[in-house]
Amino acid sequence: MIAQNLLKIKEKLPSGVRLAAVSKFHPVERLQEAYAVGQRIFAESRPQELAAKVPQMPSDVEWHFIGHLQTNKLKLVLPYAALVQSVDSLHLLEAIQTWAAANRKCVPVLLEVHISSDATKQGFDAGEVRSILQRTGDFPDVRFCGLMGMATLTDDETVIRSDFARLSALFSEIRSTRPELADFRELSIGMSDDWPLALEAGSTMVRIGTAIFGPREY
Ligand SMILES: *Cc1c(COP(=O)(O)O)cnc(C)c1O
Repeated sequence: MIAQNLLKIKEKLPSGVRLAAVSKFHPVERLQEAYAVGQRIFAESRPQELAAKVPQMPSDVEWHFIGHLQTNKLKLVLPYAALVQSVDSLHLLEAIQTWAAANRKCVPVLLEVHISSDATKQGFDAGEVRSILQRTGDFPDVRFCGLMGMATLTDDETVIRSDFARLSALFSEIRSTRPELADFRELSIGMSDDWPLALEAGSTMVRIGTAIFGPREY
């Protein structure tokens, strides 16, 4: 089932669009099934779960972190994550910089942008993103690789399209006004229910869980 789900999605992804398989809450056996048919990027949202899964999977897995990250959990995540997609506060960004300097590492991140009209207000607004990117010099050991966002939880495609369009416009604006940000290439939008709309809006990476692994058991 997992293999078929993956194949079905992959054949619709344009080349150049990467697929992060969101494996949170799924046992490692499911991840291994996906790995066996070639999936290499896995995304987790809980620090302990990520740290527990890493040693159980082959070493060429590319782990992404997509959940809310508390600064006291950095050591469970940053040694393993090839990309932290969910940097949602200045406080977290500063803590990542401190950890990176102390551990002589460079940490690739996406800035999470609040684009939905849902009540939970996780992530930066456009102004905050611009101002952080004005001072990348304050974060010499953080690599700013792009933006991540989640559309409003709704069946109304007009709303979802407009959420994605706003984020895509911000992404394009930064790419064109800040060409010196050479690593700023990733627009991570699109989940199980809305990834085709995200592709239309210029997604470079989709994050898909349920449509690959089935429903999560919380
Ligand atoms: C859980 C999660 C996903 C995947 O959601 P599905 O609807 O299962 O595809 C994608 N992005 C983030 C940030 C998530 O937390």
